[in-house]
Amino acid sequence: MRPLTEREIRASFVNCTKGEAKRLAVPRDLAERPWDDLDFLGWQDPAAPERAYLVADDGVAFVGVALRRAAPNARHVRRSMCSICLTSHTGDGVSLLTARRAGKDGQQGNSVGAYMCTDLACSLYLRGKKDAGPGARLHESLTLDQLAERTVANVSAFLEKVTLS
Ligand SMILES: [Zn+2]
Repeated sequence: MRPLTEREIRASFVNCTKGEAKRLAVPRDLAERPWDDLDFLGWQDPAAPERAYLVADDGVAFVGVALRRAAPNARHVRRSMCSICLTSHTGDGVSLLTARRAGKDGQQGNSVGAYMCTDLACSLYLRGKKDAGPGARLHESLTLDQLAERTVANVSAFLEKVTLS
């Protein structure tokens, strides 16, 4: 994806108030993010790890969503799989991340959730730039382009659930 500025990121959020979008913790290292290797930008708030954010190009514009991480289940030691990049992690490497839906639905308390890599580094796991440990990636006969395409499609499908009324 192309590099985004802090202003673009803040303006992209669809499921929080303007005030929240202004205050939320945008990464300070935007200039050093590996944009060429990113299918979407995702990060956790370092001061509040239960808050996470995702910004992706939906084909028309950049769409940002604020996410809440469900409290990790301490007994959950089995492997679980990210629904975005299909990487498996043990422990709390995968979390249920929930987004308030945009608009009226969200005001009425409707939200959508999906299991995702807790650190939202899906793009880096796909490319082998970040290691999730042995057995984390399925052996698939797909090219990297196809894997990236699928990841973008999975993110778009999630964003659609957040934004479509
Ligand atoms: Zn993932």
